[in-house]
Amino acid sequence: MSALFSIRMRAAQGCAHEAGGRHISGAESLLPESELKTAAAAMIERALVHSRGKADFLQLTIESIAPQAIRHAELLSIYEQSTDGVAAGRELALKALMRLGVTLPAAVRGMALLEALPDSMRGAMIVCAETGARLDDTIARGVRVSRIGSADPTALEQWLASYGLGGDHLREALLLASKVAAGDGIIAELCWSDDPEYTTGYVAGAAGYVRLPQLKEAGSGIGGRVFFVRPDADLAELRRYLETTAVLVDLPTAKGGWLQHDVLP
Ligand code: AMP
Repeated sequence: MSALFSIRMRAAQGCAHEAGGRHISGAESLLPESELKTAAAAMIERALVHSRGKADFLQLTIESIAPQAIRHAELLSIYEQSTDGVAAGRELALKALMRLGVTLPAAVRGMALLEALPDSMRGAMIVCAETGARLDDTIARGVRVSRIGSADPTALEQWLASYGLGGDHLREALLLASKVAAGDGIIAELCWSDDPEYTTGYVAGAAGYVRLPQLKEAGSGIGGRVFFVRPDADLAELRRYLETTAVLVDLPTAKGGWLQHDVLP
């Protein structure tokens, strides 16, 4: 197999993130060389035309990844939930977190951390799945998961379409959640988007990806992610995996029951 390239973008308003700029958008993928130009153009477009505002700083990073460094994870199954309103959605998210192994106090505390964000971070908060205490030291930056891609982007698109699913948000979130869930020490993830018009969020873990149509009010540009981890998780190792290990996500081997409605994993 020839080398793949990691391509990632981050954009901020005012100035660079590290100089205090406001995070606008980010994106990452793992691609063959032949697809880099198209991906780079799409990422630049995303940074310059974003509903969170106009970026003044944009960084694109492209680097090759040796084939032997690439790991694989399986695409998580989807459990699609219908809920009525944000309060009901968040209630169900707490339930889903508990089903995946997060304690109620930790789920409530982790969600409260997300609710209290004054603005979106670039990455995720890492929180203890037993106590709900925040464990990472990244403050307002968060831990950014990078180097994720689909092992077969065309087949993935067809797979999603065969279930009536699609779109950038879902594809990117599913790939990211599939990598995260495969991380050693991860119990569950909670996410809602920072895109003002995208209210769908999810709870994910090794048992599946629970899609919740309304986890925040439309118009809110504040989103985020919380990764709930085992109390004894090796945080340095986990962070290395999330940030730097290249992971290609494979389609599940069995098709039946991959998408389910109104049940929790
Ligand atoms: P998005 O789903 O892209 O709207 O992102 C929602 C929030 O999740 C962002 O505001 C970030 O806090 C966080 N986030 C987005 N991408 C990543 C990533 N690659 N790794 C970790 N956290 C992320």
